[in-house]
Order: sequence, then C-alpha cells, then structure tokens
Amino acid sequence: MRKIGVLTSGGDSPGMNAAVMSVARSAALYNIPLIGIKRGYNGLLRKSSNIHDDLQELTLDLVLDIADEPGTYLRTARCDEFRQLEYREIAVRTLKAMEIDGLVVIGGDGSFNGAKCLCEMGIPCIGIPGTIDNDLGYTEMSLGFDTAVNVCVDAIRKIRATSRSHDRPAVVEVMGRHCGDIALTAAVSTGSEIVIVPEVPWTVESMALKLQSQLTKGNFRATIVMAEGCYEAMAPFNLYKFLTAHGKPCYPEEPMSAVRFASVMKRMCGGAEARATVIGYVQRGAEPTARDSAFAFEAGNLAVRLLRDGISNQVIGMQKGRVMYMPIMEALKCKKQFNTTLYDLVNSL
Ligand code: ADP
Repeated sequence: MRKIGVLTSGGDSPGMNAAVMSVARSAALYNIPLIGIKRGYNGLLRKSSNIHDDLQELTLDLVLDIADEPGTYLRTARCDEFRQLEYREIAVRTLKAMEIDGLVVIGGDGSFNGAKCLCEMGIPCIGIPGTIDNDLGYTEMSLGFDTAVNVCVDAIRKIRATSRSHDRPAVVEVMGRHCGDIALTAAVSTGSEIVIVPEVPWTVESMALKLQSQLTKGNFRATIVMAEGCYEAMAPFNLYKFLTAHGKPCYPEEPMSAVRFASVMKRMCGGAEARATVIGYVQRGAEPTARDSAFAFEAGNLAVRLLRDGISNQVIGMQKGRVMYMPIMEALKCKKQFNTTLYDLVNSL
C-alpha cells in the first residue's frame, strides 16, 4: 500500500469521526500515508477548484482531536453520478494519480454498493457500517445506532415524566428510515406501551384501540413510539376524509406524521390530549456512546490491517458480539431480520 484513502458517505452517523481517527492511527502505526476524501464519492470526482476541498492528507495530529466529535470531519454527501460507470472511471483515475492503493468506505448499503463497483474496477476497498438506522442485514450493529437509541431513550424518559405529570399520552417519532430498530429498542428501553414500525402491518384503528385500552385502565401517560417509516406498513386509511369529517382538512399526500397521528388519536380516543414530539436530527448529531466509539476503533484498525495484508472487497461488522468481516457481495445479500418477538412483547399490554 503506497497510500490509503478514507471517505464517509450517505447520512452522517455518530462514530464516523472515531472510525476515521482509528484508520489514521492504524495507518500511522503501519507507516502508510492516509488521504481523506471529502463529501463521499464527490471528492474522487474532483469537482472543486481547490484540491484541498476534495482530498486532504490526514495526519495523526489532525485527526486525534476529532474522535469524540459528532458529525463527520470529512463531510458527507450524495453523489448520484457515481452510479454511472463513466464517473467511476474518473474516480479510479484520481485514485491512481494520487497513488491511493486502497480505500476505506464508511457508510450504509448505498455506499457499500459504490465500494463494490470500485472493487470490480481493481480498487481494493473495505467497508465500515456507518448508519444510525441499523438496516444492514449482515451486522448486529452499525456506527451511530447505539448513540441514536440512547438519545431517543433520554428524550422519551423526559417526555414520559411530563406525560405523567399531566396525565397525557405522548406520540414520539424517531428516525430509522425503512427500519424500525431504533423505535423498537427505544420503546423497550423506556417501557413505552406501543411501538409502530415499517416491518409490521398496522391500522390506525388498532392503534387507537390499544391507546384507548391503556386510558381505560388508568394509564393516561401511555407512550406511542413511531418509526419515521412506519406509514409504509399502514393499512389504507383515508386521512383526508377522516380529518375533513372532523372539521380539519389536510393535504392527503402527506404521510402519517407524529403530529397528524396525535391529532387522529385525540379524535378517536375521546379527546385524549396526545402530544407529539419529533426527535429528529439530534439523533444523528450526538456525541458517540462508548459502544459506538469502541466499535469504530476496532473497525478502523481492522480495515487498515486487511488492506495492508492484501485482503479487500470486504465489509466489517459485528456478529455474536464480535467484530468480523465478510465479502461485500455476500453482506449486501443478507436480509435484515426484525425482532417481531420483542415487538409483540411491547405491544402486548
Ligand atoms: P447509504 O450509504 O447511507 O445507504 P445512499 O443510499 O444515499 O446512502 O448512498 C450513498 C452514496 O453511495 C450515493 O450517493 C452514491 O454515491 C453511492 N451509491 C449508492 N448506490 C450505488 C450504486 N448502486 N452504485 C454506485 N454507487 C452507489
């Protein structure tokens, strides 16, 4: 390896900086110069007029300071052109001109698809899972998931305290795109009574019945945790018709958000003052937990060792609590399993 490159791609996630720091430490340990590539694959397409906006030598001094910082020092961005061969050829030319013989890609499945394409073009790549969603089937954890869940747990506990004081139910929307893992883990960890996820079909009526049953039992502060993508599994419900019938028209094309859902619950559950909170970006911009940082540290070192030893086309992950690696192609084929047993347990009250 003359030089190694590292980039962060897709949505940012807590722990990305820690992983970059670990890659830098390990590269320094093995005397391999490290180049940081800015804004995902964009940096390789050399779009900026100033080379330092695309590519930057990452010395140990520079990165030691960033390990516990949220966000990503290297920046991240989508790069739709990278899906086309002609642009990937530009990337390969940049890598060759810079004498970068191996690349560490920190991101989600989209970024791994990009890495797979580069491997097919002769560039050795190693992927590190960086996404709060935890939607990669081959690994038990991805950088940022633990942090995002802990942010949600902290927020939901506070919301439940106020819900208890005022005897009011709460609807809390958390992130995760098409994956309900953040919602489920946060619901379990806070003793929330209801969770709604994209993996399990649901109806507005059944959720209203569940909430009503809690209220009837005297649990006025019941909490509904909804994953942002949960409307994908919602059985047809004519929100427009429903809200119009209740004197409040809305835009029918809008998905079921926490605010809308709380308003529908209020109307279906005898006027219960359900309050909505959307936790949003604080889940992504939080400081990484010890668990995420430790995983980042191990993964960063393993990525550099693999490249140094001539092993490429792999992604790093966690299986049975141990850091492991497997071929990108195989990893991308692994289907994500959702824990329906835990889901049933939360919703069984
Ligand atoms: P994530 O990595 O979090 O899943 P995206 O799906 O947005 O995020 O993908 C990040 C980037 O990875 C895209 O902007 C693009 O540059 C690259 N990418 C995604 N899919 C492909 C693909 N099929 N081929 C090549 N590059 C891809």
